[in-house]
Amino acid sequence: MTITNDIAITGAGYSGLTLALRLQQLGLDPILYTAADPATMRLERLPNTVGRFPHTLVREAALGVTDPVGAADIGRIEVAVGPPLGLAYAGRLTRPLRATDFRVLLPDMLELYFGRGGRLVIAPELGRDLIGSIVGRHRITVVTSGRASIDGMFPRNPARSPYQQPQRLVLAGLFDGLAPPEGAVCLNLIPGVGEVVQMPIVTSWGAGTSILVNAVPGGPLAPIVSADPDVGFPARLAALLEVHAPAVAERVDRSRFALAGDRHWVRAAVVPTVRRAWCELAGGRLALAVGDAWIVNDPITGQGANLGSRSAWVAADHIAGLVGDVGGDGVDGRRRRPDAAFGRRVEEAMWHYAEPVTSLTNAFLQPPPPHVVALQQAAAEHQAVADHYVDLFDDPPTMWNVLASPLAVDAFVQRARGEAGPAPVAAARPAA
Ligand SMILES: Cc1cc2nc3c(=O)[nH]c(=O)nc-3n(C[C@H](O)[C@H](O)[C@H](O)COP(=O)(O)OP(=O)(O)OC[C@H]3O[C@@H](n4cnc5c(N)ncnc54)[C@H](O)[C@@H]3O)c2cc1C
Repeated sequence: MTITNDIAITGAGYSGLTLALRLQQLGLDPILYTAADPATMRLERLPNTVGRFPHTLVREAALGVTDPVGAADIGRIEVAVGPPLGLAYAGRLTRPLRATDFRVLLPDMLELYFGRGGRLVIAPELGRDLIGSIVGRHRITVVTSGRASIDGMFPRNPARSPYQQPQRLVLAGLFDGLAPPEGAVCLNLIPGVGEVVQMPIVTSWGAGTSILVNAVPGGPLAPIVSADPDVGFPARLAALLEVHAPAVAERVDRSRFALAGDRHWVRAAVVPTVRRAWCELAGGRLALAVGDAWIVNDPITGQGANLGSRSAWVAADHIAGLVGDVGGDGVDGRRRRPDAAFGRRVEEAMWHYAEPVTSLTNAFLQPPPPHVVALQQAAAEHQAVADHYVDLFDDPPTMWNVLASPLAVDAFVQRARGEAGPAPVAAARPAA
């Protein structure tokens, strides 16, 4: 049975689409407002370069979302830590991650939702004001319009948002003349300078490869992030890779190295921000914020979309739990209305997982404390530690527990070493 119950979603990004598909799966009939149709979405500028971790892929599979042909599993994370540490290791993932250009994946998800009878309003003129009026029209509106969000409805939570400024300047692009790291993400951590990530990614023309430059403001990588990508850009980037990310530079063919096209790169600088996730409105209406509209994390740990998927799932389950009893008392005696109390419950349930993700990501933006350096050294020396450690990117709460103290790191290393480690795999070269 399909229950309408007047639920709106504004924004057809990864969070909004996950939410729409999940609500639909739970028998609800939301209405999804989007600024673009699938054909337009396919022609947009590259929005990001997202690696989706195994738990996220499990949720996608449950929704019937499939990757395009050619999407390859990524089974390793090759880490190179630059000077003064200068070490490298390659950890094998128990379950692979995958990267698909969102301009391919999201229109497919939108078509899946629509093909299953999902209600859709395509309104290119949608703007912030219009979102406000949509919220006023529906009993529950979930705002999934991304990191610009709506300050008036979802104020920043200062206690959960330690930064006032971007901690990294980001440039990501798809490149020609760059061999992919076969089946691996290549993660270069360059202390005081930033991070460089190379990843195989399936895009509209098949297998591609991306580079993400995450530059510390004022550092040596910062100028390339703000450079005009037309003027000598490939040569300048290649030169920087040689110094700071030699494992990536080795895969560059200087004679062909270039951005794959005008639309295939993006710049960003995010202020890591946690907002309030709900806003009670007059007339028994409620707005919820999910995904980047609620929490924006720096891309450094690759968690934003993964968290958006998880939060959308949690929000959908809560909304479904509410439906059928709106305005009355629930069987468990709790009021079941889309009111502030419900908003708080949804926020609390989402925050349970989002808190360690956010703490972890904010900590990665700072120089690592000695016990985290010790963990990196142990990973470089013992394959089993490397394998167990890279698996934790799919389990941020556990990763955050492990990184929280020297004792927890010791226990983790001992546990990992106690198990028979598989044969060592080729490690990435550390940055010079
Ligand atoms: C370079 C880069 C690399 C990244 N790498 C990773 C990674 O490896 N792993 C990871 O998990 N995350 C990564 N992220 C973060 C990830 O991209 C975001 O967290 C995620 O895409 C957020 O999804 P969302 O649906 O919440 O918001 P968005 O993706 O911003 O989607 C919002 C949607 O709402 C639409 N919209 C906006 N305004 C309106 C409006 N007024 N009305 C209607 N619609 C509107 C937008 O067009 C868009 O379609 C990366 C980000 C960047 C920039």
